[in-house]
Amino acid sequence: ADSASEVEGMELVRRADVAMYHAKRVVRDEAAFVRYVPELDESEARRADLARDLPSSLHDGTIYLNYQPIVFVGAGEQIVGLEALVRWNHPHHGRISPEELIQLAEEVGNRDELYSFIVHRAARDAAELIAEHPDDGLFMTVNASPAELRSPATVDSVAAALAAAGLPAESLFIEISERLVDPDEEAIVATMDALADLGVKLLLDDFGQGQTSLSFLHQLPVTGIKLDRQLVLNSAESDTERIVVESIVGLSARLELTVIAEGVETQHHLETIMRTGCRIVQGYHFHPPLHLSKIATLLRHQSRPVAAPSGGPVPAAAPAAVLSRPA
Ligand code: C2E
Ligand code: MG
Ligand code: MG
Repeated sequence: ADSASEVEGMELVRRADVAMYHAKRVVRDEAAFVRYVPELDESEARRADLARDLPSSLHDGTIYLNYQPIVFVGAGEQIVGLEALVRWNHPHHGRISPEELIQLAEEVGNRDELYSFIVHRAARDAAELIAEHPDDGLFMTVNASPAELRSPATVDSVAAALAAAGLPAESLFIEISERLVDPDEEAIVATMDALADLGVKLLLDDFGQGQTSLSFLHQLPVTGIKLDRQLVLNSAESDTERIVVESIVGLSARLELTVIAEGVETQHHLETIMRTGCRIVQGYHFHPPLHLSKIATLLRHQSRPVAAPSGGPVPAAAPAAVLSRPA
C-alpha cells in the first residue's frame, strides 16, 4: 500500500476529488472530513454503473414494484390495501435499496421519470385488482419522497396515472414520510394540497419518528397516519409506550384520521397494537412485500368480510367506511 506522501500530481487530485464527492453525497455534509481509501474508488465505480443503468432499468423489468398487503383486523383478517414498494434488482450489483434508488434518481435527473413509472404501474395494477374484486374496498398506496413532492411534475404524473388506469382518485393514497417532510415548507404543502384536490388521499408515513404533533395534523390535508414500526416495537416492550400509542390512536379517531400500524412482525406485536385500538396493520406477521401475481392469488383466496357477532368487542365496520374521511 502506498502512503499519501508517495502519491503525487493528478492522482492526488483525483483522490481528493473522490473523497470530496463522497463527503457531499454519502456523508451528505460538504464540511465533513473524508479521508481517501481505495474502497471509495469501488463505491464510485458502482455508483457510475448504477447511474448509467438507471434509465434502461425502467424499461427492462429490473426496476419493478412489490406490493405489501395492508390488513384490516376485525372479525377475521381482510386485505384492504396494498403499499407499492419499488425494487431494483441490478444484474451486477444485486438488490439496490429503494432509498438508494430514489436518491440516485434525484441526483442523476431521473426523478420525475422514476416517479411516473412507479405511480403509473401502481395505478394500473390497482385498477386491475379492484376490477377483479370490486367489493373488497381495496386501496393502493404509493410513497413520495420530499424531492418528489417538490417537483412540479409529480401532481401531473399522479393525474395522468389515474386517467390512464381508469382508477378513481379515492383509491390512491400517497404516503409522505413524517421523518423527511418539513410541514412548513411551502412547495411541499402546495403539492399536498394539489394532490388532495385531485381526490387522492394522503397518509403521513413513519409517524412517531418526526416532530409532528397530532394537533398540528389537521392543518395538513392528510387522511391518516402510519405508525412507525419503532412505536409498534416500543409499545410491545413497555406499558408506558403502549399507553402513549393508545392516546395517539384515540386522538386520531376523534380527529377522524385513519391509523395504520407498520412493522407488525409477531402475534405479540399484533395483540399489543390491537389493545391500542388500531385495526389496520401491515407487517411480516401477515405478508411481506410480494409480486403482483402473489397478491392476485391472495385476494382470490380471501373470503368475503363477515359481519361480527353483535355485541362483539371488535368493530366490523366495512374497511371503506373505516378509511374514508368526511370531506
Ligand atoms: P416505508 O414506506 O416506511 O416502507 C416500509 C418498509 O418496511 C419497506 O421497506 C417494507 O419492506 C418494510 N417492512 C414491511 N413490513 C415490515 C416488518 O414487519 N418489519 C420490518 N422490519 N420491516 C418491514 P423497503 O421496501 O425496503 O422500503 C424502505 C423505504 O424506502 C420505505 O419505507 C420508503 O420510505 C422508501 N420507498 C420504498 N419504495 C418507494 C417508492 O416507490 N418511492 C419512494 N419515494 N420511496 C420508496
Ligand atoms: Mg410507506
Ligand atoms: Mg413507513
